[in-house]
Amino acid sequence: MVDMNKRSLLVMLIAYALLSSCTNTGSDNTDNDIVITNVTIIDAKQGPVKNVTVVVRGDKIISVSSDATPESTTTTANIIDGTGKYLIPGLWDMHVHLTYDDRFTDLMPQSFLSWGVTSVRDTGGMMQDMLPVIARMRAIDAVSPRVYFAGPLLDGQHVVYDGNARPLIGTQNSDVEQARENVRRLKNSGADFIKIYELVNPEVFLAMVDEADKLSMPIASHVPLHLLASTVGNQVGSMEHLRNIELDCASNAEALLVTRQEKLTAANIESGHALRSSLHQLQRLDAVAALDEERCAMVLANLTQTIQVPTLRLNAIALAPPYEQIDWNDAISAMLPEVQKDWNKPNEFIPKEYAKRDLRFAQYSLSMVKRMLDAGVPIGAGTDTPIALAIPGYSLHRELEMLVRAGLTPLQAIEAATVRPAQFLGIEDQMGTIEVGKRADLVLLSQNPLDDIRNTRRIDRVISKGKVIPR
Ligand SMILES: [Zn+2]
Repeated sequence: MVDMNKRSLLVMLIAYALLSSCTNTGSDNTDNDIVITNVTIIDAKQGPVKNVTVVVRGDKIISVSSDATPESTTTTANIIDGTGKYLIPGLWDMHVHLTYDDRFTDLMPQSFLSWGVTSVRDTGGMMQDMLPVIARMRAIDAVSPRVYFAGPLLDGQHVVYDGNARPLIGTQNSDVEQARENVRRLKNSGADFIKIYELVNPEVFLAMVDEADKLSMPIASHVPLHLLASTVGNQVGSMEHLRNIELDCASNAEALLVTRQEKLTAANIESGHALRSSLHQLQRLDAVAALDEERCAMVLANLTQTIQVPTLRLNAIALAPPYEQIDWNDAISAMLPEVQKDWNKPNEFIPKEYAKRDLRFAQYSLSMVKRMLDAGVPIGAGTDTPIALAIPGYSLHRELEMLVRAGLTPLQAIEAATVRPAQFLGIEDQMGTIEVGKRADLVLLSQNPLDDIRNTRRIDRVISKGKVIPR
């Protein structure tokens, strides 16, 4: 045994020396290699694999070997002893708003990284606000997660987030021509995907989908109130917050739709936000109560190609408010003092007394995720950071916990925050697992996340774009 180990160690060192010598150029200098030895790797494709050595060079994983453990290498590589530790792919938050609240924008990159969130998908912000932030985050040597962004919420004739009494992150699309033009403009300005919002009409929705498809832009969407989830499914790559899915799962779904369409096309609409709120108020909880399992199974059968980003930590916030978690005080201490003051105030939406809380939508959201899981609908992990007490980075771990509470295994929760976002963007050949050739985003954990998903917070070290992030 000893001889075998020595032999394989020798083979590996020679192989490593060869690798080091053939591609030793510029910023890919082997001096900056990172070697993580004797670690258990865990990704959604392979599950756990013990006693692995992972070598990172530049922004790539160049070796994943289940062979011996080198105690030293011929280079000055940064060697991390992974004994007793767990290595997972860098995590994603699939639903953030970098520019929603100025108090968070600048501290977000570091906050995400310190919690092991090495990539984010921004699902709504105006281009003039987004572009400078994106430029800073993508600058060479920026200490920042990778970022993919949609630009503004593409809304309809009326706009929910129109800047009146709430942030301006939505834009108007009154007709098909304007919709096509907006999608083209976003593509030209560098948006990675589009986000369709709730007040678009069916023609505008179809035009957006068609234009985005032509331009190879993935599509994230709420289910527009004018449409049914089963109609929207398969036309979009992701759906957010389970929004309006309950309306299609209700036994009286068609009647609800007729009522909605009347109100959506009425002459005297005061504002997009008021319109949307009134429709949610009118139909949401009744639809939840009228859920028809058979009909819902048919709806979900149309969603098997669409990643659902249920944002459970938001939808089910009444069941598990963040400030009731034991690590809340620690996590919030990294936020600005005014945020701490704001967020530690009693919350008007969530009564302190458990018995007074309305838990219907929270419980429905958990059960819907379980239904989706059983129906083969892919699930993605997103938080809506910084909306509703979502601390950048920390809240993703809360989301993973809630996904497991809904019925995902810890490995499925990891898949939701690694493989699924890569699939949404069509970059699963580059990201999402720990394999040779993949980007070098990794999180080293001191405890096994498969034993308890909360162990994704036991972060020993974060590697982002091939560099160890100082904690
Ligand atoms: Zn959002």
